[in-house]
Amino acid sequence: MSEELPIPDWVFEVKAWFPVKPEFDSPIVREIIEHIRSTGEPHTWRGHTHTRPPDDAEIEYVGEFDLPKRYIEAKRFAPCPCCSPRHSKYGRGGKIAYFQKEQVIRLIGPDCFKSINEQGHREAEDRYHQAIERARTVEYLLQQLPRVPDIIRTIEQNLPIATAVDAVRHRLPTFLNEVLRIDLWEQVKDGQLKVTLEQSETFLRRDQSEGTRTLHMQRVFASIAGYKLLRPRGRQTSLAYRQVLTALKKVNFGFDFRSRLVAMADTDRSETARLFGQALKRATGVTSEIADIQMFFSPMNIANLKGWGRHAGSPCRFYFELDGRNVLIGQTSSSHRRFVLPAAFFEPVRRMPDVLGVRKVA
Ligand SMILES: [Zn+2]
Repeated sequence: MSEELPIPDWVFEVKAWFPVKPEFDSPIVREIIEHIRSTGEPHTWRGHTHTRPPDDAEIEYVGEFDLPKRYIEAKRFAPCPCCSPRHSKYGRGGKIAYFQKEQVIRLIGPDCFKSINEQGHREAEDRYHQAIERARTVEYLLQQLPRVPDIIRTIEQNLPIATAVDAVRHRLPTFLNEVLRIDLWEQVKDGQLKVTLEQSETFLRRDQSEGTRTLHMQRVFASIAGYKLLRPRGRQTSLAYRQVLTALKKVNFGFDFRSRLVAMADTDRSETARLFGQALKRATGVTSEIADIQMFFSPMNIANLKGWGRHAGSPCRFYFELDGRNVLIGQTSSSHRRFVLPAAFFEPVRRMPDVLGVRKVA
């Protein structure tokens, strides 16, 4: 047993100062946390009652705390009114416990009330975790919901670009395959343009005479941006956007969103947070996909494709040029065909408006 701690008498006085249960993010709880942070002594907080709770006490948890690291490292643990009022007992997971009948607050060890009333302890823990979850969801939605109209507007502005990307994606791969008489996707589906290089090598035959042989080695010529443009049956970005819009319109509560949120049942609020989080994630994903596909016609990528088409080791030799919105492609420059890209394809896609402090709500 550790030696007895000097506990002032006033600590044991019953301080029935709290007729109302403090909310877990209330000034009182913040004061307690701050006191523990600066002193490492829960029991010397001015409002703490250092007596054992009665056996029939009803408990509510309104907060949790650890002693500061330096106290834990020095093994200067806190005494607990439930089980160890004059000796050090706990360092982590301490609980701020509220007792309605006595109107007192006790700062106790993590599982101490369990030995007094196990069922009461478990139920209080459940209520506490639900309250935290509820507050997190509300905080998240208060932060995010004002941005819904902006996100909706951004998607609506991007929709014509998505439609253009989808149209190109729908027709261009077949067009290219016909012109080049090759399954282009098979060649680029790992995002790399490959060439086969030949290298001759000398070797010694068994009779010690020298021979030469040709080695074929596959090398990466360049990586290819936006290659998913060529993927057969790529997803329709415009359809995905429309689905996101439908979801976002369900959580677009307008100026009145605060009162709507407060009035909601917990389950509806969680569902709203889930819908919003999912919609935003999807919108961000679709937007990145569009931006990526647009890169297929970036100057760098065109230069790479041209070079690949001219390379002796390329699986298909071809002529390739982008003239304005015209893709010119053929097996030779004199026999090329033309594919006209829609103007909207080249419009810069707008990123989702910045959403501060996005975090996962479980
Ligand atoms: Zn205890």
